[in-house]
Amino acid sequence: MVQAFTDSSEVAHFVAGAPLRGSSTRTQAVYNPATGEQARQVRLATREDVDAAVASAVQAFPKWADTPPIRRARIMLKFLELMNQHKDELAAIITAEHGKVFSDAQGEVMRGIDIVEFACGIPQLLKGDYTDQVSTGIDNWTMRQPLGVVAGITPFNFPCMVPCWMFPVAIAAGNCFILKPSERDPSASLFMARLLQQAGLPDGVFNVVQGDKLAVDTLLEHPDVRAISFVGSTPIANYIYETGARHGKRVQALGGAKNHMVVLPDADIDQAVDALVGAGYGSAGERCMAISVAVLVGDAADRIVPKLAERARQLVVKNGMNPDAEMGPVITRQALERIEGYIALGVEEGAELVVDGRNFKVSGHEGGFFTGGTLFDKVTPQMRIYKEEIFGPVLACVRVPDFAAAIELVNAHEFGNGVACFTRDGNVAREFSRRVQVGMVGINVPIPVPMAWHGFGGWKKSLFGDMHAYGEEGVRFYTKQKSIMQRWPESIGKGAEFAMPTAK
Ligand code: NAD
Repeated sequence: MVQAFTDSSEVAHFVAGAPLRGSSTRTQAVYNPATGEQARQVRLATREDVDAAVASAVQAFPKWADTPPIRRARIMLKFLELMNQHKDELAAIITAEHGKVFSDAQGEVMRGIDIVEFACGIPQLLKGDYTDQVSTGIDNWTMRQPLGVVAGITPFNFPCMVPCWMFPVAIAAGNCFILKPSERDPSASLFMARLLQQAGLPDGVFNVVQGDKLAVDTLLEHPDVRAISFVGSTPIANYIYETGARHGKRVQALGGAKNHMVVLPDADIDQAVDALVGAGYGSAGERCMAISVAVLVGDAADRIVPKLAERARQLVVKNGMNPDAEMGPVITRQALERIEGYIALGVEEGAELVVDGRNFKVSGHEGGFFTGGTLFDKVTPQMRIYKEEIFGPVLACVRVPDFAAAIELVNAHEFGNGVACFTRDGNVAREFSRRVQVGMVGINVPIPVPMAWHGFGGWKKSLFGDMHAYGEEGVRFYTKQKSIMQRWPESIGKGAEFAMPTAK
């Protein structure tokens, strides 16, 4: 068993370089999902607490924005070193509050570290464009400048990686950042805040406000917050996008998902089964890139479903700190009830329940929020278990006759986050990538989360806004372009010009 995380009994805010308990007595319980017991509590910010965080960021901004990008990058480089040094402690914090297995938490931290590494290249990323002699004696150049104070609102399922999609790029680009993490697993945010401080980040550049809707609404309405990055469920993403835009902010709001994996009859069936089991049940299905629908083409279905069933029954489900665990608990009792409610609904709707994960008990952890892997076959597009995001270890198999029907099915779905296609045929793979209406595509890759320099984002109801997270789109999101046109007195002609200036 890996050492478990047992930090203080209360998780506070982090403002102006110091912990802040805040002005309210509102708190929420934080659980260890493997035991079902309350581990600590988190403070829930009031408007005044959020105002204090924004004020500290506003104060820090001018000096930070003026700091040469290479010096900002050096602080990021130090932070990168510290993240690498403490990555297992951070992973243990994640497992203790989220429940995912320790090796998966380690993977999450590494994917966060990738973005920090990318942000270390900010001097190169901020380089502007220059044109000599746009007119006689006149030059024109563009540069990108930070926005000011920006905020990130993040979900429970990646308490380290998703904040890292945002703050390293935002801060390296010269902004000050306010993180509002999920109130269900808030400790990772404070751990990273402390590492940033140790790396030499000036106070006020990175702040954390713990909280719920009240904190979010205060950030959305705050006149000093210039941009909001959000990752979470679709209804809230939609709300954030509309409300933020109404308050004049730049917004990127990444929403929910229902990711399909299409398996063609020519695919390597054992590889496809491995991919479906890992991507469907890994992290208990609580990944926005989890595969929740297997689209089985032609006779692939009869060859795959029995193998999938066998593997789903054999899943090793236990406390994620156990080295041999393949799947841990889900985040809360409410999530467990929602997921098992969907399984009951699937039965009512007429899907074939091949493996039933309900009422799963882990010995010694009877109070934990565990459910086993569930497998449905013969799911149809009309069913709610097909249409809605369940966000749990429930894999739905839909049978289709051919490739065209598979593409049509995927494209008709309201979500468009990730998708995968398993085949040995290069032309089919090529056509699939070109025709599919989804933001992130894997060919024989079940979870195609783009690397740090490519940027992450879905289509349709999986993303509201124009720009993807991190990568060059992230740099663009956290900066605004300025164009400068310049000439010197020696090249200025005589007399006022009343016509629109043109190149001379
Ligand atoms: P959530 O939408 O419930 O919460 C996300 C954040 O919004 C949290 O910080 C929460 O405090 C805040 N929030 C919740 N309700 C709010 C309200 N009414 N008003 C204002 N703020 C509110 O999501 P979650 O359950 O934490 O995370 C799971 C969801 O996130 C899934 O739908 C998953 O697909 C999605 N997700 C998407 C991506 C992506 O990249 N597209 C990545 C990870 C997770």
